Amino acid sequence: MSDPPRSVFECQQCGECCRGRGGILVSDAEIARLAGFLRLSEAEFHSQYVESSPLGPNLRTNAEGVCILNQEGRCRVHPVKPKICREWPFLPAILADPEELELAKEACPGIAPDCSHAEFVKWWREKVAGS
Ligand code: SF4
Ligand code: SF4
Repeated sequence: MSDPPRSVFECQQCGECCRGRGGILVSDAEIARLAGFLRLSEAEFHSQYVESSPLGPNLRTNAEGVCILNQEGRCRVHPVKPKICREWPFLPAILADPEELELAKEACPGIAPDCSHAEFVKWWREKVAGS
């Protein structure tokens, strides 16, 4: 019997990608959208949810290093979540670098552990970029 078809990526809803102090970058436009979604002023949103880093503004994390907009494993702002959250794991650095893909596999159980970088990029082209 042949192996069942395998997906290069299938999110397991584990919430691990909401982990990462300083790495959940948000633009001013995203801050405005997130604030509006939560019915807060931009200043209120900024003081409650945003902190600065050398890379720019990013979402605060809790003591475990998880984004404070993650509530019991679910994103409270899913419809308007930042670009970096919508793109993961198909981030430019991962699409460009096989070593980055191997690191991403360790963080994200949704990526097929045995997929090659070429398969990953092909799947992104066909299922994400081309959709
Ligand atoms: S780490 Fe991967 S599998 Fe887990 S929620 Fe994020 S995208 Fe889905
Ligand atoms: S904004 Fe949502 S998807 Fe992005 S890190 Fe926070 S909880 Fe996770």
